[in-house]
Amino acid sequence: MENDKWKMTNQLLLHLLLPPAPATCTCLLHLPPATILPMPGTLYVVATPIGNLADITHRAVQVLTNVDLIACEDTRHTRKLLQHFGIDTKTLSYHEHNEKQRTEELIQLLEQGSDVAIVSDAGTPAISDPGFRLVRAAIEKGVSVVPVPGASALITALVATGLPTDEFFFAGFLPSRPVARQTRLRELAAIPATLIFYEAPHRLAGTLKDAYNILGEREAVVARELTKLHEELRRGRLSELAGHYANEDVRGEIVLVVDRTVIDEGAATSKEELKVAAMVDRFEEEGLDHRAALKKAARELGLSRAAAYRQLLAERSRS
Ligand code: SAM
Repeated sequence: MENDKWKMTNQLLLHLLLPPAPATCTCLLHLPPATILPMPGTLYVVATPIGNLADITHRAVQVLTNVDLIACEDTRHTRKLLQHFGIDTKTLSYHEHNEKQRTEELIQLLEQGSDVAIVSDAGTPAISDPGFRLVRAAIEKGVSVVPVPGASALITALVATGLPTDEFFFAGFLPSRPVARQTRLRELAAIPATLIFYEAPHRLAGTLKDAYNILGEREAVVARELTKLHEELRRGRLSELAGHYANEDVRGEIVLVVDRTVIDEGAATSKEELKVAAMVDRFEEEGLDHRAALKKAARELGLSRAAAYRQLLAERSRS
């Protein structure tokens, strides 16, 4: 009964979306019943939380409750999520080792009119997770595919890094073997966008070291255990992060985000140098002449007047 209601809602929606049939349309009702094909079902690609169960959406719960079947990466894992929300829909395993065979079975069910949801262990299916093959096959067979959005670790991390979000490149997992990883990092080095990687904790130190050597010094963020109890976002330069994690027994799930810009290490590095011009400007605005403003800035920064003057010239020449 629930399912019928659900199907009716879908049909109503379809009705609203489709233009009305022309008046001359000869209806399916004129065909003998045996030739009427069942309405194909719908494949829902449903995102689930990446840690905090409260991050599930109302719509995800609704869809998971009402579909005929849920294809999951790990049925035991997804059962816990379903139990938490009081959902008792049938589940079927769909993972990298049975993806090909299961795709055929699921497409058959969809073609016979069943509604199927696909979920992964966490986050959005098909993002570094199974799902792509099924979505592709469904499209080829004319089955409608409906995304049900929600959490994904890459976006959750990116928006909290403070690194530019206007253009970003998601590189998934880097190869685990060092030589292949270094080759991939060389390919990515020239991309003018924030780089996002998924990484396993035991590989983080090696990846940070390679990233520093190959991408150069850049701002980066290690986002760990997002939305969970021990959530941590550690920001720093690649060299600092590589140093920090070199001897750390790091645990949990990790997203590494790297800025597009290589830091020019030849540029001003001393704090005093960065401050001289701003200070001189301020003192001049307050009424001191240039000479007196420079003298006061030098005193406040603990510099000789000659050093302050040199730094002022260097700073002005860069601006
Ligand atoms: N499909 C998922 C998504 O949309 O985010 C990603 C699945 S992928 C197999 C799992 C990887 O995502 C982890 O190894 C980690 O790099 C990242 N990840 C997942 N959950 C995370 C979390 N709570 N905090 C940080 N990274 C996470």
